[in-house]
Amino acid sequence: MQTNNLGYPRIGSNRELKKSSEKYWAGKISVTELIRTGVGIRKSNWELQKKAGIDLIPSNDFSFYDHVLDMSLMLGAIPKRYHKVILDKSNSEIDLYFAMARGYQKNNLDIKAMEMTKWFDTNYHYIVPEFTKDQKFSLFSTKIVDEFLEAKNLGIQTKPVLIGPVSFILLGKEKETGFHKLDLLKNLLPVYIDILTRLKEAQVEWVQFDEPFLGLDLDSTAKEAFIYAYEEINKKFPTLKKLVATYFEGLRDNTTLALSLPVQAIHLDLVRCPQQIDEILQKIPSGKKLSLGIVDGRNIWKNNYQQSLKTIHKTIEKIGEENVMIAPSCSLIHSPCDLDLETNEEILTSEIKQWMAFAKQKIEELASLKKLIEKGNSEPNTTLLKENIKAHRNREISDLIHDQRIKSKITDINLKIKRENTFPIRKEKQNYILQLPILPTTTIGSFPQTKEVRSWRSQYKKKQISAEQYEQLLRAETEKAIRIQEKIGLDVLVHGEFERNDMVEYFGEQLKGFVFSKNGWVQSYGSRCVKPPIIYGDVSRPEPMTVQWSSYAQSLTDKKVKGMLTGPVTILQWSFVRNDQPRSETCNQIAVAIKEEVEDLEKAGIQIIQIDEPAIREGLPLRKSDWQEYLHWAVKSFKISSSSVKDETQIHTHMCYSEFNDIIENIAEMDADVITIECSRSNMELLDVFSKFNYPNDIGPGVYDIHSPRIPSKEEMERLLDKASKVIPVERLWVNPDCGLKTRNWEETEKALKEMVLAASEMRKQL
Ligand code: GLN
Ligand code: ZN
Repeated sequence: MQTNNLGYPRIGSNRELKKSSEKYWAGKISVTELIRTGVGIRKSNWELQKKAGIDLIPSNDFSFYDHVLDMSLMLGAIPKRYHKVILDKSNSEIDLYFAMARGYQKNNLDIKAMEMTKWFDTNYHYIVPEFTKDQKFSLFSTKIVDEFLEAKNLGIQTKPVLIGPVSFILLGKEKETGFHKLDLLKNLLPVYIDILTRLKEAQVEWVQFDEPFLGLDLDSTAKEAFIYAYEEINKKFPTLKKLVATYFEGLRDNTTLALSLPVQAIHLDLVRCPQQIDEILQKIPSGKKLSLGIVDGRNIWKNNYQQSLKTIHKTIEKIGEENVMIAPSCSLIHSPCDLDLETNEEILTSEIKQWMAFAKQKIEELASLKKLIEKGNSEPNTTLLKENIKAHRNREISDLIHDQRIKSKITDINLKIKRENTFPIRKEKQNYILQLPILPTTTIGSFPQTKEVRSWRSQYKKKQISAEQYEQLLRAETEKAIRIQEKIGLDVLVHGEFERNDMVEYFGEQLKGFVFSKNGWVQSYGSRCVKPPIIYGDVSRPEPMTVQWSSYAQSLTDKKVKGMLTGPVTILQWSFVRNDQPRSETCNQIAVAIKEEVEDLEKAGIQIIQIDEPAIREGLPLRKSDWQEYLHWAVKSFKISSSSVKDETQIHTHMCYSEFNDIIENIAEMDADVITIECSRSNMELLDVFSKFNYPNDIGPGVYDIHSPRIPSKEEMERLLDKASKVIPVERLWVNPDCGLKTRNWEETEKALKEMVLAASEMRKQL
């Protein structure tokens, strides 16, 4: 049996890559220094895995920005607009690469970056390959061969990893009409053959082809493409050992297809879809190897050895030990690097820490499982197993996790999931009490997080200023924001969210059942890393979280101040979630905590409350047949958090740019009195679906893009509002920016909002 790793985090245990690339972009270090950082990270990753006893160690899993962009470069899929970058002799290959990733503004050139989008259902973002009708491919970068040789020089035999040809094409986008991207496969394959030839010459033994699309819904063209591609490859390289890796979903109706591919091994995600193993074991052709993805690559919990051993034994019995590999469920780039670096008891207690494993520990788990399989119950293996059982037992019964009071709260049949009355009745009552003009103006919540605001928080965290001082500073900033909003003439004000570092972390820090790591960074895109909160236990709200800020802001003004909360689905979606109960249950618990906050805000006299759910769409399962089940509990969680208020209290929700087409009914079911959405970049086109489906409640389509420093004019916003009023009755329209303003400065913010308020009042005059 072999241990197999699909990919190791490339950011470095102390985010060395982030620091180095940002310095390089700022012109502070040379390209040689940047490259040296890469060499260092690769070396230490390979050595760590070698030392742990991993048999199949990945190479080419390293990337300076994104592994999909690496593929585009390798295959020569470089959009024409970047060709000028190469003509400048002072630029190297890496400058072209970064130009594609980040755009290029130098020497009279101004070239936009390639598009970026989420990697399946993760929080990682990849650079979308661009294809034209006459798309040519040719080997451009030999990174994969170079890195294999680099490891070889260190005495380490690796398994090069690349994205398989079908998934690479499916990840990309047609930039012209008149062709289907899979038509390009025929032209693409010769480049794969070229690469494989070079790898073979370099004496590669195994090659890993990532084909995550095998876990998704496929049409017949895509299915045929898989067969065609791997038959072509196999014709040329029958003896080269080829591993096709699937992850993030089970193979389901693609099982027969995947097992029929002429390759030596298939990798399965048995964390996401453990039940698929039985069907696979029944259908697997003899002699084919299976890589069992049993160690969770997407979460931070310790592996349960007893469970894993059962699966491994079952597989060995069926296909023989020589045909079994064990592996993480997917690449470990979705895990933080090293739990050993978490040494601060105040942040992460050892009791909780003993339940967890980061990438380095997951590698060790694979090695331990292999020992347990090979050497059975002899010492010191029994100790390994006993320790693992003990940690799991401790977690199962820990008081830190289980709170009967919370558990009974969620099963409480009195939990309201419906408002007292329907929207038209509520709206009338709200109109009476809120006295807002037609086309009310508002913002999405946050105001500029200036350097000062961030420095106060960091001083407070470092205990350089006291809690009172910190609070005083934030109060002054809140007052400033209120005065500015009054001066601009907005109708519904916000307090500005100055007390928040981040819309999830802020709540996580105050909720029971959450912990944080000091160094648990995961790559989000390029040099950007996130450190998700960890939900380890039953979630509850010991005390009000936002009431004092909203009340304080409301006390300063006669205008209505909108309370500001993050919704349960978004909190869940942007955290590492416990795996000992269904996600829906954890979401329900968060919903109850938010509901209590909503009730306290209402009691404190806040009449408008916004519950942000920007992540509701990204939580959608990869397979369409699973959508309704998810949407059912996600919408229910929102309703739990928002339904217990009286009719007069106005509930808002906010969602960032997203396609609402196929989920509009579920959005309507959420029954928020007002929904604000990102719309300006689509020129109000996103609104069409709301009108088509007769979305019944109020809508605030964003009238300007907050991602850009540019100040929109009153006229252009009037045009957008006019357009909106053609599809949504004007009595149901709100006027607001696309999203929160935390990334803008005050000058831009004031100017833009003034124009926006003017646009609204012009529109009102015309009614
Ligand atoms: N209320 C949040 C803000 O304004 C919403 C952010 C978001 O949608 N991502 O910052
Ligand atoms: Zn938003």
